Amino acid sequence: MSAHGIPTPMSRLRLTGLTRAELTDLMIQWGEKPYRAQQLWSWVFVKLADSVEAMTDLSKPFRVRLAEEIAPLRPRAISHRVSADGTEKWLLACDDETVMETVFIPETNRGTVCVSSQVGCSLACPFCRTGTLPLKRNLTAAEIVEQVTFVRATMAERGVRVTNVVLMGMGEPLYNLEAVTRAVQIIKDGNGLAIGCRKLTISTSGVVSRMAEAGRNLDINLAISLHSVRDAVRDQLVPINKKFNLAALRQAALAWPLRGRGRVTWEYVLLDGINDAPEDARELVLWLRGIPSKVNLLGFNPWPGAPYSPSSRDTILRFQEIVANAGIVTIIRDSRGADVGAACGQLAGDADSDDRKYS
Ligand code: SAH
Ligand code: SF4
Repeated sequence: MSAHGIPTPMSRLRLTGLTRAELTDLMIQWGEKPYRAQQLWSWVFVKLADSVEAMTDLSKPFRVRLAEEIAPLRPRAISHRVSADGTEKWLLACDDETVMETVFIPETNRGTVCVSSQVGCSLACPFCRTGTLPLKRNLTAAEIVEQVTFVRATMAERGVRVTNVVLMGMGEPLYNLEAVTRAVQIIKDGNGLAIGCRKLTISTSGVVSRMAEAGRNLDINLAISLHSVRDAVRDQLVPINKKFNLAALRQAALAWPLRGRGRVTWEYVLLDGINDAPEDARELVLWLRGIPSKVNLLGFNPWPGAPYSPSSRDTILRFQEIVANAGIVTIIRDSRGADVGAACGQLAGDADSDDRKYS
């Protein structure tokens, strides 16, 4: 509340963080007919209204009440950068002026939003730029959902479809599991954003202690940042490995509920001279035996001061060949958005941006 007793945005109700059932309960509490909840839900998640004024089929008194009680539906973009390859990155301002980063990656038959779950990260993986930032805070479910509604509304104006969501932006989503679970429930709702469980992926560095709960509650695809199958190397690259080692990670991956022909995606950043030898590829194949798997080989995206360099194209191709020849689907994920700091592991604000644009 402000000094004048007017609710500040922070204390207002955030519709984007409510499930459909909760919104229905709220409308009942407000003394409205239950169909109001459906109308409102549809304005927020299907028609992607950015203000109450747009909701023209709601009665005037109801709109006045909403305008008084709810928080803004859309975060404010403070920066927008477009890569030569079509990838776009936004810095979006939260109510407390915290800034969250969101990326859109257009592809031929789909469009993927990469959302952040935290601002900064507590896990200091030395090849990841986000890891150089301290954890500022967890994002709320509403803030996670609003990254999706923001990008979908922006793209809808241009006739571009948003079909997939990956929780692979800033932060470790399993360290914010409660908000992530709620956000996923809202994003999946078939009467709203309707992004199905096969089009949603969570990426973890391997927080084994939260994986069983996440698997039970999320029912979406799992990606794990592996980067080495040797504990001594992974201890360096993904320090959480010292707490949850490879054997524990393997057990947790095996227990993840996969649907039908589903597979665990293993992310593997190839770092020159560190984890990219043919022997590393052969060990990876052995380690994956028995787990339905798909391997995503990521080229290292450099950033100023990064203590690693990317593997050569030949090395990447040789690595891929070894893993693919063992019958494992192995994709080289081309880096997208690297020229605007939007690629994997580069999210750290626009600190080194020389072409910052405000929208
Ligand atoms: N914290 C989660 C999700 C966000 S990181 C996780 O670690 O899985 C998203 C992906 O980007 C991870 O696979 C991570 O290993 C990868 N990544 C981080 N820094 C990178 C870099 N500089 N180049 C390429 N990929 C990177
Ligand atoms: Fe955090 Fe993932 Fe980056 Fe590691 S790779 S520092 S877990 S965001």
